[in-house]
Amino acid sequence: MGGAKRIAIVTHTNPDGDAIGSSLAWAEVLRGWGHEVECLVPNRYPSFLDWMTGIERVVVAKECPERAGEIIASAELVFVMDLNKIDRLDSMTEPLAESKAPRILVDHHLMPPVEEYDLLFSYPELCSTSYVTYKLIEATCGTEAITTAMAENLYAGIMTDTGNFAFSFLTPDLMRAVAVLLERGLDIPKVNTAVYNSYTASRVKLLGFALGRKMEIIEEGKAAYISLSEREMRRYNFQLGDSEGFVNYPLSIAGMKMSAMFTETRKFIRVSLRSRGDEVDVNVFARRYFGGGGHKNAAGGKSFVSLAQTIENYKAAVAEFFAEQNIK
Ligand code: 5GP
Ligand code: MN
Repeated sequence: MGGAKRIAIVTHTNPDGDAIGSSLAWAEVLRGWGHEVECLVPNRYPSFLDWMTGIERVVVAKECPERAGEIIASAELVFVMDLNKIDRLDSMTEPLAESKAPRILVDHHLMPPVEEYDLLFSYPELCSTSYVTYKLIEATCGTEAITTAMAENLYAGIMTDTGNFAFSFLTPDLMRAVAVLLERGLDIPKVNTAVYNSYTASRVKLLGFALGRKMEIIEEGKAAYISLSEREMRRYNFQLGDSEGFVNYPLSIAGMKMSAMFTETRKFIRVSLRSRGDEVDVNVFARRYFGGGGHKNAAGGKSFVSLAQTIENYKAAVAEFFAEQNIK
C-alpha cells in the first residue's frame, strides 16, 4: 500500500459479532503496518460485544456524526467489511459515496455490486467475514502476526456467524483456522461466555415472552414467525441486540423450514429471516419481498408498512413462495 495512510474501516448497521470482530482484527493488522486506522459503525453495537479488545475506539456515526464524516472525508483508503451494498451504512452511505478514496470490500455476502468497489475480497462460500479476514492475514503477513486479541475477535465473528458452529460452511479448513487461533492464544470458553452468557434478566424474560406468546406457526408447521412491537420491547426494557438470535428458535421445531422475526422500530419493521438446509433460500425471499438480502439460510430486510400488515404480507409471501418452489 506504499507509505503510512489514513484508513477507514466501515461496517454495517446493527453491527454484529462478525462485523465488529473482522473490523477490529483487520484494524490491528493495518496499525501494525504503520497505518492510521479508524473503525466506524453506523449505530451502536450490542453490549455483549463490549469485551472485545479495541472496541472502545470504534466511532459510532449516529452518536458522533461530525467525527465520522471527517474520518471518511479524510480517509485515503476505505475497507468495507461484512456487507455487500454500501446502502447498508445509513448516514455513512452518502459521505462514502462522495469519497474519492479507493474502496476495498472484505465480505461473504452473495452478489456484491462490483461497481461499488475498486477491489473485492468477496467469498460467499466462507462462513464469515472474520474467516475471510483470517485468510487475508494468512496471505499477507502469515498467521504468526495474529495476537491473542485478534484471535479472540476473529473467533467471536466466526462463532456468532456460524451459530456456534451449527450452521453451514463448516469446512475442515475452517476448523484448521480455529486450531491456529488456539495456538495464537484463543480461549474458547472465555469468548463463549463473554458472548452468550452475558444477557440481562429482562432479555431472557423477553425471549420467554416472544416464544410463549408471540410465536405463530403457519403453513402446516413448515414456517413460523415472531413479532415484537415497540411497546412490548419497552415493557421488557429492550436494549439494542436483545432480540438477536430469537429468530433461530422456531427452527428447533421438527419439520420447520423457515422462520421470521419482525421487530418494530420508529421508522420501519426490521425483518430477520432464517431457514435450514437447501430447500428455502431466504436470500431470494428477502430480496423479493422485503428489499433486503443476505445468505441462503440467514437474511434480512425492512418493511415500511405497519407490523400487522407486514405479518399479512409475510403470510401471503410464504404461501406464494412455498407453492412456487414446491416446498412440501
Ligand atoms: P440478521 O437477521 O442477523 O439481522 O441478518 C441476517 C443476515 O441478513 C446478515 O447476513 C445480514 O447481512 C443480512 N441482512 C439483514 N438485513 C439486511 C438488509 O436490510 N439488507 C440486506 N441486503 N441484507 C440484510
Ligand atoms: Mn457476517
